Amino acid sequence: MIERRSILMTAAMFEPRSLAATAAALDRELTDAEPAEIVAQAQRTLGRGRVAVVSSFGSESAALLKIVAEVDAAIPVLFLDTGWMFEETLAYRDAVVARLGLTDVRTITPSPAALARDGARDLWFADPDACCTLRKTAPLAHALTAFDGWINGRKRYHGGERATLPVVEIDGLRLKFNPLARVTRPEIDAIFTAAELPRHPLEAQGFASVGCMPCTSRAAPGQQVRAGRWAGRDKTECGIHAVLAPAGADVSTGHMR
Ligand code: SF4
Repeated sequence: MIERRSILMTAAMFEPRSLAATAAALDRELTDAEPAEIVAQAQRTLGRGRVAVVSSFGSESAALLKIVAEVDAAIPVLFLDTGWMFEETLAYRDAVVARLGLTDVRTITPSPAALARDGARDLWFADPDACCTLRKTAPLAHALTAFDGWINGRKRYHGGERATLPVVEIDGLRLKFNPLARVTRPEIDAIFTAAELPRHPLEAQGFASVGCMPCTSRAAPGQQVRAGRWAGRDKTECGIHAVLAPAGADVSTGHMR
């Protein structure tokens, strides 16, 4: 168990202004911390069972999950199955879970009522923002109502909006931890090599970042990691990293299994 000077949450700290101050204090404290220390501190701050990891089981995901498993393999891991996942990703999820011994992986799906709004399954083309809301953002917001904070795998080297990622931020009324914010691509590769982690099967086919099937394409050599996501569209993020579940939002459109 990693011991570290700790900020422990009290009920008053979940007030919006206090939460922002707490996030800023944690961000300062953890700015140079190792990823495992950040994961451990997230759990110490919020309590066991109150913080979840959100993973796409994409090309880099196993690095964060390896770190999480070493801190506590029972930390809940939320996987958003949008209904448009590659079969390779679903198989890879199962392989990584078995390899790392993760004991609480929850697959989140849109509710049937939400899916009925995309009966023709063409919303990804007609209105990708609406499709992401229906298949990702709303189900995740619903799933996160069971937690006080979450951990994700974004890195600054992904560029774009991610270039200035803090280590700790707020997401509505939750804390959000980015343990890999300052990690480099060679360091991610080193984690894979040292732990002999399996690679996502689509990586060898030129997919540097893997998301939903219709919105993922190969990145050309030298392009940024996420260049193949929504290629040719004016869209770079799915929306789950915007503030989730603002007051009064309808988050009743997800299922967990
Ligand atoms: Fe829909 Fe594409 Fe968003 Fe997946 S990434 S939810 S298919 S728009």
